[in-house]
Amino acid sequence: MTLNPRWPSDPRSLRNWQLDRLRRYLSRTVLPFSAYYRRLFDQAGVEPAALRSIDDLRRIPFTTKSDFLAETDGSDPVRDFVLVPDKAVLSRRPSSVAKALLRGRKAVVEGFEHEFRPLLLTSTTGRSSAPVPFLYTAHDIANLELAGARVMRVCDANREMRMMNLFPFAPHLAFWITHYASTGFGVFVLGTGGGKVMGTDGNLRLIRKIKPDVLIGMPTFLYHVLTELADDSFQLPNLRKIVLGGEKAPLGMRRKLRALAQKLGAEKVDVLRTFGFTEAKLAWAECPFHEDAGSAGYHIHPDLALIEIVDPKTGEPRGECEPGEIVFTPLNARGSVVLRYRTGDCIDGGLFQEPCPFCGRNVPRLVGEISRTSEVRDLRLGKLKGTLVDFNQLEHVLDNVEYVATWQLEIRKRHDDPLELDELILHVTKADGIAEDQLRATLNERFVSETEIHPNRIEFHSVEELQRRQGFGTQLKEQRVVDHRPAAASQDATSVPETTHE
Ligand SMILES: [Zn+2]
Repeated sequence: MTLNPRWPSDPRSLRNWQLDRLRRYLSRTVLPFSAYYRRLFDQAGVEPAALRSIDDLRRIPFTTKSDFLAETDGSDPVRDFVLVPDKAVLSRRPSSVAKALLRGRKAVVEGFEHEFRPLLLTSTTGRSSAPVPFLYTAHDIANLELAGARVMRVCDANREMRMMNLFPFAPHLAFWITHYASTGFGVFVLGTGGGKVMGTDGNLRLIRKIKPDVLIGMPTFLYHVLTELADDSFQLPNLRKIVLGGEKAPLGMRRKLRALAQKLGAEKVDVLRTFGFTEAKLAWAECPFHEDAGSAGYHIHPDLALIEIVDPKTGEPRGECEPGEIVFTPLNARGSVVLRYRTGDCIDGGLFQEPCPFCGRNVPRLVGEISRTSEVRDLRLGKLKGTLVDFNQLEHVLDNVEYVATWQLEIRKRHDDPLELDELILHVTKADGIAEDQLRATLNERFVSETEIHPNRIEFHSVEELQRRQGFGTQLKEQRVVDHRPAAASQDATSVPETTHE
């Protein structure tokens, strides 16, 4: 089954079809109504009609997170990215003229409202900078429903399933796309609001009552909830799918979730990841796969998004199936719109164009593990100079070690002295079945063999103590890496606590 028969099936024609769509979208919708891009295209001397090949796209300058930062003169650049309709231009559109003739002027005005009036907002989580709000119009909400329904189909869901949405209730994409996936696909989804709204107990109570076939949420929270259920010897044999989003879910985490589901009596469970970000106003999913075969990647909706992979250092385009940074351009968004957006997310496989080997859908796929370029930090571990440490890699190491239930990495200055060396402290909750000394030795050995550094200390904690450290239930995302270096507060990402931006 294809997602949507409207686009061509062979990869080359599909790329050209997307380019054609992009040209029309730019000339009819973005450039007439986006102050920011009208200016940018003028400065760069780019005409939509001249974008004939994927190679031509590089003539459009990238948009990055720093373009959203407030100017010192008090202007609000976020506002510049919102499409603001010009009534005179709109009423000259051939479709407007035809509609006015057939259905009257009131219908035309209502159409403009549907297309351009903002109704919903989701925002970034403010990990690395101030939260950036992205606006949705009714047109965008329809796309959110469409994209959500496709995620359901890609995950091979059916309408008889009972689902629970354990994402935090907040103005964030993960919660809202799950909500609209329910209405778009037509399936029962109970949103609990996550741990922050109902507490772990509230979530457990509802799971016992609803007995869901599908659990959707953040990996660390789902891991916690499933552990509690397993400890209580609760059985949930009908559980079919665990759908993850909102943060990374390395292979080790997925394996642990599958093992927990088996403890609950669920023998055949798909643990599927989704990938989405605020600026896309969309998310994509993996289709079910056998663990040994590996994932076929995130299935991209080619009518809604154009994905490029570029070299994270130079910005030059990478070839098909080559790793690099993910760059996003919408093809049908209204409200807030960004073009050639540098996500800061790198994928180690790349963009694959041939049909999916598992489900056969003819859609582009993002294949591989995703890591953030911003998670490479400079630590002064030795006397002489800083060492670049890739925290993405450390997370993979930790999630893959058996008997590590949950963990947190803490960076601090020795003796809390700003002039001292940095220290890396690993906090761990140990699963049953191994001695502390043995696990400590395993962790040290794995750290050195895979990253060439080792933590200064490894401290073991109870589940409750580690949850308190992670800000469980009080923070929007569990804090897995915390930076307690005194000077780091202003410049470092994870030392800034998550906020909910109500
Ligand atoms: Zn597939």
